[in-house]
Amino acid sequence: MVCENINVNEKGNLAFAGFDTAELAAKHGTPLYLMDEDRIRHNCRIYLKAMAEAFGTEAQPLYASKAASFKRMYEIMKEEGMGIDVVSSGEIFTALKAGFDLKNAYFHSNNKTDWDIAYAIENGIGYFVVDNSEELYAINEAAAKAGIVQDILLRITPGIDTHTYEAVNTGKVDSKFGSAIATGQAEDMVRLTLSYEHIRLCGFHCHIGSQVFDSDTFLRGSDIMLDFIADMKSKLDFVTQQLDLGGGYGVRYVESDPTIDIAANIAQVAANVKAKCHCLGLDIPKILMEPGRSIVADAGMTLYTVGTVKTIPGYKNYVSIDGGMTDNPRFALYGSAYTVFVANKMNETADFVCSLVGRCCESGDIIQENITIPRPVRGDIAAVCTTGAYNYSMASNYNRIARPPIVMLSGGRDYVAVKRESLEDIAANDI
Ligand SMILES: *Cc1c(COP(=O)(O)O)cnc(C)c1O
Repeated sequence: MVCENINVNEKGNLAFAGFDTAELAAKHGTPLYLMDEDRIRHNCRIYLKAMAEAFGTEAQPLYASKAASFKRMYEIMKEEGMGIDVVSSGEIFTALKAGFDLKNAYFHSNNKTDWDIAYAIENGIGYFVVDNSEELYAINEAAAKAGIVQDILLRITPGIDTHTYEAVNTGKVDSKFGSAIATGQAEDMVRLTLSYEHIRLCGFHCHIGSQVFDSDTFLRGSDIMLDFIADMKSKLDFVTQQLDLGGGYGVRYVESDPTIDIAANIAQVAANVKAKCHCLGLDIPKILMEPGRSIVADAGMTLYTVGTVKTIPGYKNYVSIDGGMTDNPRFALYGSAYTVFVANKMNETADFVCSLVGRCCESGDIIQENITIPRPVRGDIAAVCTTGAYNYSMASNYNRIARPPIVMLSGGRDYVAVKRESLEDIAANDI
């Protein structure tokens, strides 16, 4: 199985986090997002422990909350001692609703509006991760108005190509994010930042990409950043307190994906950072990392009810479900791989080659192509694994389809963390 929280039970049904998924589908209805809370906590603790051991106790993992943002997630992050990344006022608002202390929050985004900046400052955001000079100016103005000095990091583009999918490759020189070292713009940003009175530069951030398995990526990234830090020290006498290495560790969507030992990887990065700092005569800065996908992806599963099963003789077979790109747009966006099961037919022979497709008026509304499953019939339950990251958070109401609820599973208890949207909700803002 792609993750150890997935099994087959004695009834021949798919089990997730110890629960019979067919029973959960009957109890809560479909489409249904499931989240294994114990797995989320387990994943947080891998980072918390590995980073404390490797970099010392002041090192801090930040949960990149865009991966799955809802109130309960921020409560769990608060309980686990994780910091958070946020990218919008909506995420800040949700974190506040959960009682999350924004001192431990880092506000990303390549285009924060004046309203976002004011809202974040008003609510005591710990740090802005500043992308560009216009934003730097706007934050300085807003901080002056509020009578504060605002802590920030600068987002730097190290110039690394991760060879992952183009849309999630963010560390290259020509990226829309950050300021590149190679063009001299990163240094210009440091100089500019140091000239502003209401901004305190605490350090630097980079985020190289996502779904990264290659451990070399973080080693190269940290090397380039530390060279830059040494350069800023010698040129501008600037001492870097924090270095944020971003997120991006990959997860297994299908059996053929590699497994990655995150703790061992972090230890390797730490050894490299220590040696490099020693070599450059730098004090080791406080290290931050920003896992999103690797905290929540394998904690998620989506259940659907099968509707039409269509065979086009000589061509292909389609299995239609009661959800689709509205709850999981990742195949449509990136061609992402997923493991699919028929939850109530786990012991039947998988010999039906088909595409699992959604109910939207869009040929590209596909969850997965060319899967081999037992031939399903209307009313069967289809399960898509590893949907905890970038599914609910990317969901839409296209075709006025209501978003599914999120049911959390923890220690044998299931509870609703986000309720199902109703038809009333769908038209709630229509005047
Ligand atoms: C998306 C993102 C992350 C998280 O990436 P994952 O691949 O989900 O771990 C971290 N930092 C920044 C700036 C991001 O944009």
